[in-house]
Amino acid sequence: MAVTGLRVGVVGGSIAGCAMAIAARRAGADVTVHERSDGALQDRGFGIVMPPALHRELVSDGYLGADMPTAPVAARVWLTRASGGRSTRELARQRSPVAACNWGLLWRALRTNVGEEVYRRGLPVESVGRASSGRALIRTGAGEREYDIVVGADGHRSLTRDVVAPDVRPVPSGYLAWRGTIPLSALRDHPKPLELLRSAWVTLGFSGGHAVFYLIPGPVPGSRLLAYVVYGFPPRTEDPEDPVPLSYVRGLADEHFPAEWADIVARGEHTARALHPVADFVTPRAAEPPFLLAGDAASVTRPHTASGAVKALQDALCLERALSAGSSAAEALHRYAEERSAEGARLVELGRRLGRGLVEHTPDWPLMGPADVEEWSRAALNGATSYLYGNVHRP
Ligand SMILES: Cc1cc2nc3c(=O)[nH]c(=O)nc-3n(C[C@H](O)[C@H](O)[C@H](O)COP(=O)(O)OP(=O)(O)OC[C@H]3O[C@@H](n4cnc5c(N)ncnc54)[C@H](O)[C@@H]3O)c2cc1C
Repeated sequence: MAVTGLRVGVVGGSIAGCAMAIAARRAGADVTVHERSDGALQDRGFGIVMPPALHRELVSDGYLGADMPTAPVAARVWLTRASGGRSTRELARQRSPVAACNWGLLWRALRTNVGEEVYRRGLPVESVGRASSGRALIRTGAGEREYDIVVGADGHRSLTRDVVAPDVRPVPSGYLAWRGTIPLSALRDHPKPLELLRSAWVTLGFSGGHAVFYLIPGPVPGSRLLAYVVYGFPPRTEDPEDPVPLSYVRGLADEHFPAEWADIVARGEHTARALHPVADFVTPRAAEPPFLLAGDAASVTRPHTASGAVKALQDALCLERALSAGSSAAEALHRYAEERSAEGARLVELGRRLGRGLVEHTPDWPLMGPADVEEWSRAALNGATSYLYGNVHRP
């Protein structure tokens, strides 16, 4: 029996907020999204990957248009710098199908399906709370409104989470992630890496960190950008004038990457770049009726799992199922909390294990071969599943 006629307020209109709004509307609710930013979020032009099966499900269920471009590849190639030189050494290949997306194009595709009339932008939510009726309350500069359910999709600094789980705090990992996107022209003089990236995504291991490279759809139909992430420990000095210094990542690349990959990073005119500390946290219960948390508001895993946006999208599919199967909003939210809290905790644990192996205690990559990488992957997963590791986890 479906719960119908609910009024749902969503705080945050990014990936999680838009997906949750679509889910609630598909389950028959009257939805309003409150997004504080007035600008276009698609300007966050980074790359993300998701399992191809999830992408297919989102298209067939009407969350994403079939015209949203992806750059699918089926394999993962592990590289390192050969000992005693600057050449590239291939360590292993694993089956690892992913649909690589442009974050901005993904957001725009979801946003289009939310609809203009329910998406209120440029209006920050000042507070959420409980009305005397027991319903949830959203307060903005334009006044207060009651809802049967308030979805906190307001990111890792969520104010909605302060109501559900006020004691949750991010746990810093101690290392940083540098994200960048660069035009394919940076690969003009590097035909071998370009050829490789057309069929695989790349993990480049070094002592004290690693880098990930993959192609994503560009803003012009049919075009591609190179997206990459480099993980490493912070430099000893930081320039307060430039919190995202290119010199940080170029220094790491120069010291640790094979020459051709360091050159790609050094040459690229970045279309987007960001440097941020890696941290994680998990909320013990992702919903306390009438409040519910989704996406980064509920939990943040270290990015090695490539699961933040994936989790947000799966949160939405779960909400739709729970509302369609529950007899009350509270019952639906309890179902949601059962499923999604466990998944958040599982991913945070997995992210920490992968972080240990890929950054904190890296193996001697140049000494490894395909069987060692397979064994390393199995040990890091420790029985968990991850779409990034293909069939590694299966006995
Ligand atoms: C290096 C790196 C690599 C990653 N790679 C991947 C990947 O490959 N695959 C993947 O699935 N994920 C990946 N992720 C994670 C993914 O990018 C995030 O998890 C995801 O974008 C979070 O979406 P969100 O909607 O929950 O939060 P956000 O995108 O942070 O959105 C929160 C929104 O809430 C709004 N907001 C906040 N407060 C208020 C308020 N008071 N009132 C109104 N609005 C408010 C904000 O303006 C914002 O738009 C990666 C992350 C990193 C750092």
